[in-house]
Amino acid sequence: MLKELLNELQLTATKLVAVIKTHPVADIEALYRQGQRRFGENRPKEMAEKHPLLPGDVEWHFIGHLQSSNVKYIAPFVNMIHSVESLSLLQEINRQAAKHDRIIPCLLQFKIAQEESKYGLDMPGAQALLSLDAFRQMANIQIAGVMGMATFTEDEDQVRKEFRQLKQYFESLRTDFFAADPGFCEISMGMSGDYKIAIEEGSTMVRIGSLLFGG
Ligand SMILES: *Cc1c(COP(=O)(O)O)cnc(C)c1O
Repeated sequence: MLKELLNELQLTATKLVAVIKTHPVADIEALYRQGQRRFGENRPKEMAEKHPLLPGDVEWHFIGHLQSSNVKYIAPFVNMIHSVESLSLLQEINRQAAKHDRIIPCLLQFKIAQEESKYGLDMPGAQALLSLDAFRQMANIQIAGVMGMATFTEDEDQVRKEFRQLKQYFESLRTDFFAADPGFCEISMGMSGDYKIAIEEGSTMVRIGSLLFGG
């Protein structure tokens, strides 16, 4: 499955984050042996436990809801945090990154779905955050783009509309805040059930779990 998926993604230069939440290290090693290096977890402690068990060239992506108190578990090694949705979280990431003398790339998570349960910023919230002096002073984080999850629905038009919205947020923020920053370049959207639509709408990074593990 990995090979077919990678072939499909390669055509559009979309990157794959293999989502390994709940999967044992042996499953992850199997994907690693097939060449996969980018892995995503949504629990900080599980990620910190798996990290020393896998080779050093694995790229660790944190994709779930992150509480400030848990940033310390992943700050020493995480390669990207996809789920930043508040100034306070960003400040804690910056503080922990500084401790380890690192710069941690972060994506701003937007709430594009209709479900109440999904987290994320709205556009005014993101604009306000990026305009703050407190944000500009953070030297140990890099805002690398945006992330979003579409509504879990069979309605493809709805999903497409939400991904298109996220792409528009990305374009608008790039123009207003990151015009001189080529590091603001990622749109993390698309999961097992909707990644084809996400790619059509401009995803640069899909986060796929169940499809890879066949369940
Ligand atoms: C679990 C999860 C995924 C992957 O979902 P699948 O449907 O298993 O591909 C992607 N993104 C986030 C934030 C997740 O929690």
